[in-house]
Order: sequence, then C-alpha cells, then structure tokens
Amino acid sequence: MTFVRNMTAALVLLGMGASGAVAQSPAEIARQHHQATATAIVADFREFLSIPNVASNVSDMNDNAAFIQDYIASRGFTSKVVSAGGAPYVVAERPGSDDAPTVLVYAHFDGQPVIPSQWSSPPFEPTLWTDNPLKAEAKILSWDQEAFDPSWRVVARSAGDDKAPVIALMAAIDALVAAGKMPDVSVKLILDGEEERGSPTLAGVLEQVADDLVADVMLFCDGPMHQSGRRQLVLGVRGSMTVDLTTFGPNRPLHSGHYGNWAPNPNEILMGLLLSLKDDKGRVAVAGYSDDVRAVSERETRAVTAMPSVDAQLKRELGLGNNEIPGERLESAIMRPAIVVRGISGGGVGPEARNIIEPTAQASLNLRLVPGQKPEALLAALKAHFEKLGMTVSPEGPDAGAARERHLQMVPRPGGYRSFRTSIDADVVGDLKVILDRLGDQETLITPTMGGSLPIYLFEDNLEAPIVILPVANHDNNQHGRDENLRLKNLFDAIEMYAEVLVGLSNES
Ligand SMILES: [Zn+2]
Repeated sequence: MTFVRNMTAALVLLGMGASGAVAQSPAEIARQHHQATATAIVADFREFLSIPNVASNVSDMNDNAAFIQDYIASRGFTSKVVSAGGAPYVVAERPGSDDAPTVLVYAHFDGQPVIPSQWSSPPFEPTLWTDNPLKAEAKILSWDQEAFDPSWRVVARSAGDDKAPVIALMAAIDALVAAGKMPDVSVKLILDGEEERGSPTLAGVLEQVADDLVADVMLFCDGPMHQSGRRQLVLGVRGSMTVDLTTFGPNRPLHSGHYGNWAPNPNEILMGLLLSLKDDKGRVAVAGYSDDVRAVSERETRAVTAMPSVDAQLKRELGLGNNEIPGERLESAIMRPAIVVRGISGGGVGPEARNIIEPTAQASLNLRLVPGQKPEALLAALKAHFEKLGMTVSPEGPDAGAARERHLQMVPRPGGYRSFRTSIDADVVGDLKVILDRLGDQETLITPTMGGSLPIYLFEDNLEAPIVILPVANHDNNQHGRDENLRLKNLFDAIEMYAEVLVGLSNES
C-alpha cells in the first residue's frame, strides 16, 4: 500500500498520471485544442473583427460589446455593460470557488479610426494574407482553408490591437474545460471600448465597478511583443500628454520682400523655441523637467541588458544611420522622459507656399512621462523654460497692444496622464516568469517599461492587485496604421500562453 502510494507520488512528480501516461502541460492541451479547432477559432476572430469599432461610434461599440457578452457567456462568464457617458466597457466574471485565486484581464475592443482607401484590403472585412500586406510579395488567400499556416496574417482594424486576447483567452478556457483541466481560478475581465481615445471615461467606470474587479493579479493584455519576436512581460508604460504651442508675428500677413528682415517671423520664433527643448546630445534641456524622475534600479538595468538588442535591425528596417543618442539602446531611451515635436504648421510649402510672413505658427508637442513625473510639474517647467527665453506664456492669445512676437500661447490638451511601472521585485513578476518559461520555446523577457502609454495609473489608483502587461501581438502588426494585422502564430501562441497562465496562477497562489 505504502509502495503504491509512494509510486503514485513519484509518478505525479514525474508529471505522469496514475495511469502511467505522461500528463500534458496546459500549453500542450491548448495546442491540441487549437490545432483541432483552428477553423472555428479563426472564424470567431474574423466575425469579431468584422464589427466596426471606432470608439466615437457608440452604436458600433455597443454591437461589439453585445458580441463579446454573447461570446463569453457560453464560457460561463456573467457580464454587464458599463458606461460613464462614453463608449461601453464590458465587465465580466467566471467565478472559481470562494478561495480561488483571481486573475483580472484587461483588453480593449475599440480601434483607431481608419482611412479605408489606404488599406490593401478593407479594414472591417477581415482578410487572410500570406504575409504583412506592406510587403510586396504578400498575397490574399481564401478563408476556405484545410489548415492555417501560422505565418499567415489576419488583416483588419484591431487584429493586432487589441481584439485577439478575448478570442485567445476563451479558446484557452475551452481547451482546459474540454480536457477536464480547468483550474480553480476566478477569471475577471474589464474590456475597454474607448482605449484609442485615451479611455476618457475610465475613471467614472472604475468608480462604478472597482468592487467587482478585486483580484490577485491584473494582466494588461495590450501592445506588441518585443521586436525580436520574444515573449515579454512588461512592467510599465510611459505617461502621455499633449501641449499645443502658438507663436505670433504681425497681426496680418506681410509681404516677405517688403518686410523680410524687419518683421519677426512666427515660424522662426517657433523653431528657436522647439530647438531649445533639447541639448545637442538629444537630452531634454528644460530645467526641472527631469527632477522627479524615479531612478532606474540596478535590477531594471540588468533586465534591459539581458534583452536582445534590436537597434541594428531597426535602424536597417527604418533606413536610419543612427539613433538620437548613438550607443543608447531603445529599451534605455524609453526609460527617459521624452518631448516629441509631433507636428509643425506655419504658412505653406510646395504649391501652397506664398511669399509672406504669417501672423501665427503652431506646433504640437507630445510629452512622454516616466515614473515620478507629474503632468502639472512638467507644464510648470515648460512654462518657466519659455519665460526664461523671454516669452510671455499663457493659454490665451496675446492681448491687443501687447508685443505679439514675445507671446507664446501654450495649451495643454485635456487627458494627460502619468506613467506607471510595477516594481521588478514584486513576487508576481517572478511567478509569472516561471509560468511563462514553462512554455518552453524561449526565455521570457522582463521589460521594465514599454515606450507607449496606457492609462494604467487609474487601475493603480483604484485596485490593489499588482499589474503586469502581457502583450500577444506581433511587433509588425501595423497597429494604428493601415493594414493592421495579427500573425496567426501569435493568436495560437496566445491560447497556449493563457492556458499556462491560468493553471500556473492557480498553483502559484
Ligand atoms: Zn491597444
């Protein structure tokens, strides 16, 4: 008897069931499932993607929410649609037992606006391609396939950003349930219908549902995988805010021959101000701007060093001779605060050029914040910087009778927000790395931050659960642009990954 019990224990330790068969890992269970049901999974993804999802169209977003509610209900989720005056959010739960660990998954189901004429296939008619349509050799395929080559791409708005997690997570649950291996874990969802607009009503939504979202860990499933193609656990995002600047010249357009050299030119004033924002090494030169920046820890630096370098490949891909600070790798550059001049406008060029000195010129700045920085403090630092250069700075235009050329109109756009970064020392980071490494194909990268921005700080303010970002999309998914796509392998891999994560988190806690 003792021998049998010990024998059973030993077999279990060896990953073998009492029957003697080698137990399948969650990823293997998921793989078998998605290989057997690929046609259905891909068809579901296609159906979801065919519902237009520009967040400003609330009626379309309600259709998307209805699809989701239906789709997840058949997997045991109860859900509700929540709105705080903007687009709908879907909040859902598939409960485990009372003391089961709880994982909260975030994804968004809206997409950026589209200009259909620029797309190689219509954005809301999902199309199967052999490769990224931006490549000359890429070809359209029929949906009617015996088997799906994992290198093929599904092209549609939100294929890569961010409709895949819902489909993949449900497929993972289907796989585990069908195999009788669904762990005792509560799965909660918060699905955002207006992320691409900056989730303007998320704070109001969280006020209504924060109690429903209590969890042990929150997985933020958005964004691309690492440029090297490796899976990554991302611990943070930069904050973001937009500031519009207007400079002023004469109060009416002047002939550039009669007045050039005499009348102050708002284009040139603007260029001077913009160039003053960085030093000749490419670093932000605004006094006080970086004062509150939380230092990058030794462990974060080590994590960055351990990542495969993508700089040479990216420079080749992008036709660049060098990056802003030669020798600085991308992952380090995005840990610094950035001021990006995202657009300049003043007078005309080409056929629209006229020989005049314009009354105004405009620029739009995008500020990317890192941990420690606060939007208000950055605005104050920028204002002081421009004042030191002799400008009068205000959110309004110049008063009548004021020296227009010394006036700078500075208008922060609403919706700016701070950065977020989970400590690299948090237990959940180590636990998840162990779980993800069980996928076996590669070692998971720990990325201290991604360069882009998400309003994760709102979850940090409203929830206690540690938050990590777990992207599933290929890095070349053309997100936000034309021909957005998801490589099928990324969809299938995500199914295996979610299966491993659900089982792993239920064991780890
Ligand atoms: Zn996204």
